[in-house]
Amino acid sequence: MSGYMGELNNRGERNPRFYRLLFLYLIIMAIFLSCAGQSESNEIPDSTYGNLRAQMVEIQLIPREITDNEVLAAMGKVPRHLFIPAEHRGEAYTDGPVPIGQEQTISQPYIVALMTQLLEIDSSSQILEIGTGSGYQAAILGEIGKLIYSIEIIPSLADRARRLLDSLGYKNIRIRAGDGYLGWPEAAPFDAIIVTAAAPKIPQPLVDQLKVGGRMVIPVGDYSQELYLIEKTKDGVVKKAVIPVRFVPMTGEVQKR
Ligand code: SAH
Repeated sequence: MSGYMGELNNRGERNPRFYRLLFLYLIIMAIFLSCAGQSESNEIPDSTYGNLRAQMVEIQLIPREITDNEVLAAMGKVPRHLFIPAEHRGEAYTDGPVPIGQEQTISQPYIVALMTQLLEIDSSSQILEIGTGSGYQAAILGEIGKLIYSIEIIPSLADRARRLLDSLGYKNIRIRAGDGYLGWPEAAPFDAIIVTAAAPKIPQPLVDQLKVGGRMVIPVGDYSQELYLIEKTKDGVVKKAVIPVRFVPMTGEVQKR
């Protein structure tokens, strides 16, 4: 009787074709699994991210009056996708904010570029950032400025950003875990201060740590927020509302004041 080939013959042996097909099946499975493994570890090649980044600059920044060549060069260079957790990496170069874990977000590329441009920094600038988050904005500042100090209130985000920035070779960025409300007095005064979480009002210690002639950008408000540019003059401060924005709230001390 020639039935199903896995059946035993009358001496209790399987049909040899059964073993040949089993062998073939195992080879095919092995090839399939090794290919699947490869595509998972290398879903999108680096060159594709490079193209997406160039398009981001061309489409999202240049037409919206980001004109500072150093800002455009930094935005075209820093590998934004590496600052975004794997599950959202495919959204790295889209025109919006992206989650980075711990209920925080990395800002839209245009907002990162605009805030950086407003600071008017150069290779001699000493800069303070409040809200390190992923470390992306710090990397953009690190490309242009001399020394960057960045404070993050969530220790796990501070650690992750520090490790990533170290691995990318940034030697001019210092990160501290803590509440940025009081600034970084040991490193003050700063040429520029950038706050990347929305404060209900402008923290006075940060204004105090700005040099005369220095500039600060900060989103102010709760549900409805405005991005403010603050310029410190010898007579006081000049405040200008630039654009409505939506940032995650600044937490800690600022909420108690
Ligand atoms: N600049 C970041 C994005 C910032 S999201 C980037 O490029 O990815 C805002 C960050 O501010 C969050 O990580 C949040 O934890 C942090 N933050 C909120 N309040 C803070 C405070 N008082 N001091 C320091 N960091 C604060």
